[in-house]
Amino acid sequence: MDQKGESAQAEKYAALRRFFGYTSFRSGQETAVDALCAGRDVLCVMPTGAGKSIGYQLPALLLPGVTLVISPLLSLMQDQVESLTQAGIRAAYLNSMLTPAQYARALENMANGAYKIVYVAPERLASDGFRAACTKLSIALVAVDEAHCVSQWGQDFRPDYLRIASFVDGLPKRPAVGAFTATATKAVRGDMETLLALQDPVRVTTGFDRPNLYFGVQTPHSKPLALLELLEARRDKCGIVYCATRKAVEEVEALLRDKGFAATRYHAGLSEAERRQNQADFVFDRKSVMVATNAFGMGIDKSNVSFVIHYNMPKNLESYYQEAGRAGRDGSPADCILLYSPQDVRINRFLIENSELNSELDDEAQAAVRAREYELLKKMAFYCTTADCLRGYILRYFGERAAEYCGNCSNCAAGSAVVDASVSAQQVLSCIVRTGQRFGRAMITDILRGSESEKIRRMGLDRQTTYGLMREKREWEVRRLLDALLVQGILTQTAGQYPSLRLAPAARAVLLGEKKFEMRVPIVPEAPKTVQTEPDRGLFEVLRKLRAKLAARAGVPAYVVFTDAALRDMCVKKPQTEQAFLQVSGVGDRKAARYGQVFLEEIRRYLEKESESPN
Ligand code: ADP
Ligand code: ZN
Repeated sequence: MDQKGESAQAEKYAALRRFFGYTSFRSGQETAVDALCAGRDVLCVMPTGAGKSIGYQLPALLLPGVTLVISPLLSLMQDQVESLTQAGIRAAYLNSMLTPAQYARALENMANGAYKIVYVAPERLASDGFRAACTKLSIALVAVDEAHCVSQWGQDFRPDYLRIASFVDGLPKRPAVGAFTATATKAVRGDMETLLALQDPVRVTTGFDRPNLYFGVQTPHSKPLALLELLEARRDKCGIVYCATRKAVEEVEALLRDKGFAATRYHAGLSEAERRQNQADFVFDRKSVMVATNAFGMGIDKSNVSFVIHYNMPKNLESYYQEAGRAGRDGSPADCILLYSPQDVRINRFLIENSELNSELDDEAQAAVRAREYELLKKMAFYCTTADCLRGYILRYFGERAAEYCGNCSNCAAGSAVVDASVSAQQVLSCIVRTGQRFGRAMITDILRGSESEKIRRMGLDRQTTYGLMREKREWEVRRLLDALLVQGILTQTAGQYPSLRLAPAARAVLLGEKKFEMRVPIVPEAPKTVQTEPDRGLFEVLRKLRAKLAARAGVPAYVVFTDAALRDMCVKKPQTEQAFLQVSGVGDRKAARYGQVFLEEIRRYLEKESESPN
């Protein structure tokens, strides 16, 4: 590397440390930063929590001129601007949260070069005033956050995003354009490149794995009891409980409040004012548990969410991974637990069957969309019943390679073994054949288990030779067997709300005993993971209180002052000097200057007290 290159390197790392308090980049970040700094376009796909913001914020600091960040999420903009300001970076946002007077002032400041980073809502691109102001500026970089919103393929389509390309084109000098998203399907990725008119972009894609997340699935007899038990073990943490319906949100929230949890709620049926209030209560740590439908979360940047529990199974793994991924954004260990019951599948089938589809689609296209949704639902249900490593299942679903064992999911923790289930498989297959391949999972399970139901007797199914063959098996055991047969492609399922089971060509060899049928089963009952202990609980608590006090005084969420990960690192490093304080991950110059003394003081007091105590 030549001298100039070397000094640019040094400057980059110095800025990373000084402003953000980090000494190294996470995977993918540096490639994005280098490319944007070199004036190249970038398409960056990273999972939620991987650290996309640094990918454009750092270039913004290193490049001369202003960086515009286009973002569809108002609350996120506010958060980011607060965080940047705390870090000593001149930043502002231009969106509908400002009064006309405030907006005019911010625009003027921008034109005068008062900001390094300006967040703009996409609809501003249509405003003449804004465009005029931009032509007078030296814009080094346009970063597009949530760039998948440009694609009509996704649910998050924003028509205003289609203006971005022409906006960039209309600038006196074309800046580098960086597109950032967590959504990765091929179609959407293609749309981002063409519709944002990226020029020969550097593509940065990091793996989808989030190693700090623990994945668990439970199939409890009683979901309310299971939930209470999970929350009891996490009394001092904050997290989200996702439910499938508004009604479930209401019930679960009432239950939790009744049991003394600081819970609040969020769904589309609440007034705008209540939603805003409840969201703020959660973000500012006044309430520790948010019970919500999937309407909650898009654009919530709260980094210290330490668990996400799904009270119901979502409709596909994309949704699940996005929602669960809101846990542990700051890299701290966090838990993603799904409470499953077969009823969840029925609810989702109902929702798919009754969902309103784009009315411009013809019947055939609508049927195709539904068929695809059923297919995705099936894969989601398999996640809930598989005995394989859950992380591995997710990663393979997203097209990545994964190890058989991660050691940080409920299936790996439970341990599993591959067993020969050929005889059981034959029983299932012959039951399906003999009843004419017209029944679904529930009915086949009932026949095999010898159910005494009226319906079975009326249809004469109790006279079938396979009736009652699995009397000694539990219902979930039979269902797990059916799932394994489906996953391995020995059975197939028809589409529609009431699918029936059919034999696939591969079934023949199993039925005739020519081929073994093996499946993976857990060897011990699933046990919920014990909650990870903090490096020093006592100190952590003390620092957390201090942080809460400082955040309240500044009127910002606690994680804007320091993330949980930063507090945890303080508990490990126990810094006693300002120099040592700067070594803590997440502590930059500005924050050290602003908060260093009070935190050092608190740590010193804590250590003194500890050394005085008898043990
Ligand atoms: P994303 O936008 O990809 O969802 P963020 O940019 O919000 O993720 O970053 C998630 C968290 O990771 C933040 O708390 C951020 O401070 C932290 N983070 C980002 N980069 C690093 C890094 N290089 N080292 C340590 N923590 C980081
Ligand atoms: Zn695992």
